[in-house]
Amino acid sequence: MIRPILKYGEAVLHAPAQPVGELTPEIQTLIDDMIETMYAAPGIGLAAPQVGVSLRLFVVDVSVGRDAGQLIVFINPEFVEREGMQLEEEGCLSAPGFEATVARPARAVVKGLDRNGQERSVEATGLLARAFQHEMDHLDGTVFIDRLRGIKRELIVRRIRKLTRSGSW
Ligand SMILES: [Zn+2]
Repeated sequence: MIRPILKYGEAVLHAPAQPVGELTPEIQTLIDDMIETMYAAPGIGLAAPQVGVSLRLFVVDVSVGRDAGQLIVFINPEFVEREGMQLEEEGCLSAPGFEATVARPARAVVKGLDRNGQERSVEATGLLARAFQHEMDHLDGTVFIDRLRGIKRELIVRRIRKLTRSGSW
């Protein structure tokens, strides 16, 4: 089932998420729904808080469904390593229409559980490393806009406020 994606300004997107406990059928349904929602958007990543569930869980597929082997589900993920820096344009399904250049690690190693509860660790570079950092941020209540500084951030936040006031956000 495709779930509605919440937008910047919704409280759940701005609060740290809780660790996932038992991998119940409800969690499995949530994961299926998140994958379906990500592909339908389409997007390369989706974190549970974006569908209103404050749990430490995200899905990523930098091939956007073209290569089934690239789908990654991470439950209670954490960084093992982060190094280097890349600067690229970035967007978010929770902030449609906005993009900005964000500094991210060039390489990242993340470990966590897969949907079967097995520990796994994934080493990522380039777009996948960026996606990991972006989704990890969501679990800590940070949207990419929060990572911007100065006028760039001001302009986006002001435009979102305006859209919110006019009921079109
Ligand atoms: Zn996002």
